[in-house]
Amino acid sequence: MRKTLATFRTLALTGALALAAVTVPAPALAVGEGPNYDGNGQITTSKLATYDQMVAFLKDQDARQPAMELEVIGQTVKGRDIHLVKYISDPAKPTILYLTQQHGNEQLTTEGALEFVKHLGTGKSGDILDGVNILVVPMLNADGAMGDVNFSLEDYIAKGDRNMTRYNANEVDLNRDHVAKVQPETQALHNNVMRKYQVDYMIDLHHQGTRSERDGKLVSGSILYPTTPNADPAVVEKSKQLGAVVFDNVDSTGWGHLGKYVGGSAETISRNGIAVEYGIATLLFEMRGMSDHYLDGYALGLRSNGYLIKQTVTTLTATAAAIADGSIADADTSFWDSLATQTSRPGEEADDE
Ligand SMILES: [Zn+2]
Repeated sequence: MRKTLATFRTLALTGALALAAVTVPAPALAVGEGPNYDGNGQITTSKLATYDQMVAFLKDQDARQPAMELEVIGQTVKGRDIHLVKYISDPAKPTILYLTQQHGNEQLTTEGALEFVKHLGTGKSGDILDGVNILVVPMLNADGAMGDVNFSLEDYIAKGDRNMTRYNANEVDLNRDHVAKVQPETQALHNNVMRKYQVDYMIDLHHQGTRSERDGKLVSGSILYPTTPNADPAVVEKSKQLGAVVFDNVDSTGWGHLGKYVGGSAETISRNGIAVEYGIATLLFEMRGMSDHYLDGYALGLRSNGYLIKQTVTTLTATAAAIADGSIADADTSFWDSLATQTSRPGEEADDE
């Protein structure tokens, strides 16, 4: 019980940060630059949920929420259970999957997904569960997220806190393993989620570097649909509709400013491979800045956490709602034709989804 309360305090803190970010008068920054863009701020991972805290939170929510089921779909290289959060009221309804933290150093997507799960339990997201089945796989790369890996961490920036890595414990990029499926994390996702449930839509949530811009302003994130030539055009169009819902709901806010991501066509990447293998509409969403990295320009301080968590919650809530009420079918995808591809300011290498 005591442990559960501690977990709530941790998650309440991220909620408080989110609230502070939208209510405190913002300094005179361009939209999308977020608070504290001066050398990217203080890099610390200590405010982020640990894997154990996340699991305790999920178990507590499972006990509180009648509509929610919690399933273990496999184990990481180091033996951590990988969890699937399920809301399936009727398999005939459309289903969306939200996947976070294939890259362990990209955690605000997970923090946002946990908030979203909490909202589903409290009814803060309305009655969307009546119209859509929701699957969430949070923190797929839990070993990387905890810095529990079989390679050196000495170049990583977060000092005095746990380090967090893109790669899994075997130093493999999970988002390049969606064809061969060698790693246990990728196998868990494919064998026990993709092949087991009738998923219609997937959003793969990531973080990118800090210095990408669109129309001269730093972006809060970027989005992209499947770009492999092997994807069914109808699947690509559905993916663009998913992106339209995200763009309409995020870019219209004071803090949201989205660019088009520059992504490859390889099917080893989930955005492409899952679209082709399962005929599922997919969207990549890259939030700005990572929790830790070995490159200075990629990590972003904790003062940006609030609006980035909010960006995740907004994305998940809006897309689930648009699928639940069917309005996603009317989403106007023409914005993609005019949405500028993001570019990077000097000092940052190309992003890598
Ligand atoms: Zn990533």
